[in-house]
Amino acid sequence: MSARVLVVDDILPNVKLLEAKLSSEYYDVLTATSGDEALLKVAQDNPDLVLLDVMMPGMDGFEVCKRIKQNPATAHIPVVMVTALTDSVDKVRGLEAGADDFLSKPVNDIALMARVSSLVRLKMTVDEWRARENTATQLGVVDETTSVMDEPIDNARILVVEDQNFESDKIAETLHRDNHNVIPVENGMKAMEYASQHDFDLLVISLNLKKEDGLRLCSHLRSNERTRAIPIIMIATEEDMERVARGLEIGAHDYIMRPIDRNELLARTRTQIRRKRFQKRLRDSYENSLEMAVRDGGTGLFNRRYLEVHLQKKLDDGWESSKNLGILILDIDHFKDVNDTHGHVVGDEVLKVFAERLLDNLRGFDLVARIGGEEFIAILPDVPTGKALFIAERLRRSIADTPVQCSAKDKMLSITTSIGGAIIEPGQHTVQTVLDRADKALYEAKNGGRNCTVFESIGKLDPDKYKQELRREAG
Ligand code: GH3
Ligand code: MG
Ligand code: MG
Repeated sequence: MSARVLVVDDILPNVKLLEAKLSSEYYDVLTATSGDEALLKVAQDNPDLVLLDVMMPGMDGFEVCKRIKQNPATAHIPVVMVTALTDSVDKVRGLEAGADDFLSKPVNDIALMARVSSLVRLKMTVDEWRARENTATQLGVVDETTSVMDEPIDNARILVVEDQNFESDKIAETLHRDNHNVIPVENGMKAMEYASQHDFDLLVISLNLKKEDGLRLCSHLRSNERTRAIPIIMIATEEDMERVARGLEIGAHDYIMRPIDRNELLARTRTQIRRKRFQKRLRDSYENSLEMAVRDGGTGLFNRRYLEVHLQKKLDDGWESSKNLGILILDIDHFKDVNDTHGHVVGDEVLKVFAERLLDNLRGFDLVARIGGEEFIAILPDVPTGKALFIAERLRRSIADTPVQCSAKDKMLSITTSIGGAIIEPGQHTVQTVLDRADKALYEAKNGGRNCTVFESIGKLDPDKYKQELRREAG
């Protein structure tokens, strides 16, 4: 996967060295030799990753990182701090500034490539969700995006796979500082068992299990649908570097070396939890915006736009079963009077209850939508004519027979609805002609005195006939 990497270091030979390494792996390399220049290029050239030297005159790496991560426009760009310092205090400082990882100088080639490719991969995923959310934002259906640094970092559920008791205890004790819920297990079998039953926010896996290969466990967890997206932090020793690289290729997100530094563990955990929550939020808000695009805000029913697409599909390819499609259009009677007498608020309440009753009296696979102010539609797939008539009458009575409870003066409002129905037989139809046919029947129902059902080519239904059937059904 090719990507644009910005290399920042005040010492030119260092820049050149990293540039050469990355170019030979076909990365597109940009360079900067100061913090200011780095921020400029991050803003202008939109890199996919920043390799950032810590020690620079003027603005140091921590400050540059902090500014990248505080700016919502650039916060999603992964930052790897490159440092000669091995002091864990500095690592933690960097991670708290929002750095996604650390590399020590001299830079180990395996670690460099593994890091770069795994962070670039992660960024591609986040970019995809950001793009979708952006569209949603432009449509005006979601709030402005916030940055990954705004996500809470505590109270996560973490599975720890480690067979050395003192290490396991140390990890759990450390993670409890952030109020995480830690579940320790000592082998892969138990890990898979727990992971298949509970939702985890993070998996911490030892690569030094005595009786099995932690890498194999990582790979199992990656290929399992339920656990695929959960971040993994590997725990390893210096000698495991090649296996760590392999783990990152498989899809583990991060690693930490023994002896485990408590602050570093906490910081890396925070980074992973934050990222996971951020991704989830992007996805949720995208799904939410999709939902909002097809739903009517007032009643929660599908809206006209959705109805038209759905009906078109039904008309295009729904005929294999060569069964009829029932179409009912319902329009509340004298609804204007409800508004005029009791006000719009009560009118809105009535609409909500009306929608609920429709849902309660239809089958799960029937589709109900609001297609106008007080106009609704029900699509009944695979329905014999007699059944369609019966359902229509049942809907009409569910409205007429029980007054609506609302905030109007006398609390209970009696309303009625008129229903126009059409039975669509297999053949060539358009959405418009189908709706027109039911609409025409509705018009007749309005003219025929309201609070009644009229079907195309059948005429007005006799309420008494269906009354008995309804009683039978209830009995
Ligand atoms: P008819 O029996 O012929 O259908 O009479 P009607 O009064 O129901 O029909 P009309 O089309 O004259 O009036 C519909 C009313 O519905 C007018 C409009 O103010 C009201 N309305 C449309 N949408 C909403 C809404 O979302 N909330 C409220 N409260 N009223 C709405
Ligand atoms: Mg009406
Ligand atoms: Mg109307």
